[in-house]
Amino acid sequence: MPVTVLSRRHLMLTAAGAAVAMPFLGRGLVFAQEPAAAAIPAFLPTVHTRTLGNTTVTTIADGHFDFAKDLVVNLDDAAYGAALRAAYLDPEQPIRVPVSVHLIRQGDQLTLVDAGGGSAFGPTTGHLAASLAALGVTPDQITRIVMTHLHPDHAGGLVGDAGAVFANAALHVNEDELAFWTDEATASAAPADVQPFFALARGVRDAYGDRVQTFAGEADLGGGVTTMALPGHTPGHSGLRLSDGDAQMIILGDAAALAALQFRHPDAGVAFDTDAGQAATTRRNLLQMVTADRIAVAGTHLPFPGIGHVEARGDAFAWVPEDWFATRA
Ligand SMILES: [Zn+2]
Repeated sequence: MPVTVLSRRHLMLTAAGAAVAMPFLGRGLVFAQEPAAAAIPAFLPTVHTRTLGNTTVTTIADGHFDFAKDLVVNLDDAAYGAALRAAYLDPEQPIRVPVSVHLIRQGDQLTLVDAGGGSAFGPTTGHLAASLAALGVTPDQITRIVMTHLHPDHAGGLVGDAGAVFANAALHVNEDELAFWTDEATASAAPADVQPFFALARGVRDAYGDRVQTFAGEADLGGGVTTMALPGHTPGHSGLRLSDGDAQMIILGDAAALAALQFRHPDAGVAFDTDAGQAATTRRNLLQMVTADRIAVAGTHLPFPGIGHVEARGDAFAWVPEDWFATRA
């Protein structure tokens, strides 16, 4: 099984290397290939369901990618190494992160939060359909999709060769997010390496047509789902506050994405942040809030199933994973 390693060299436009099929990324990103370490199944449908009042929240594994050190910004080498060693990870190896999608069930309403990488983010993501099938859910049963942002590891799964993957779903996107990634002038002024991100967003907008619904800031989407403005990773990056009675959870998207680094060092960002400074401020404020209010959080790239709490630790934070058997449906 080839392993996707995402590093800064993938931000350079190059025709060299063994590119994999990524129709929406064109040739802008090239994913390194490594031989498999062991003959284990490439992917098995992997899901985890948790209750939230009368709502269930299912974390669905779309796959994973490996995140190279050179994509981390605002963190020096010594702090990087110490943080990874503290997490019992090898600082010489890329950080492996999952890509998760969340399915919220409320009666007949099936809401997806993001859609994974589809075929747009390399060979180790794009397993959403298989995991949905294992749950007995077909794409046309999804009634709405709420996007945290439009990066390809979140939006790639919205579209396939035949256009929109989810034939009946309303697609909710922050208005600043959609405007940024579909603006022709912004796209043409952007570096070549991120041009595919813009192309994907335009493809999504065109495929979903009048099913695209924009929201702004904190919007009540109904069914206990309220959006939260969490800008910085992207201009319109959004979280979701889920509530059912007294039960609450926040899906934070990529506001904290690298568990080994960004709780211990909240100012550390990633090269994909549109505004790493704003992203750091957003992250600190969010982590302080969920710590003070003791709200459970879920994140796209937090260790699967990526649900837990946040603990204050001096000027920083620590990730406290939830015992997933204690809360399963
Ligand atoms: Zn992401």
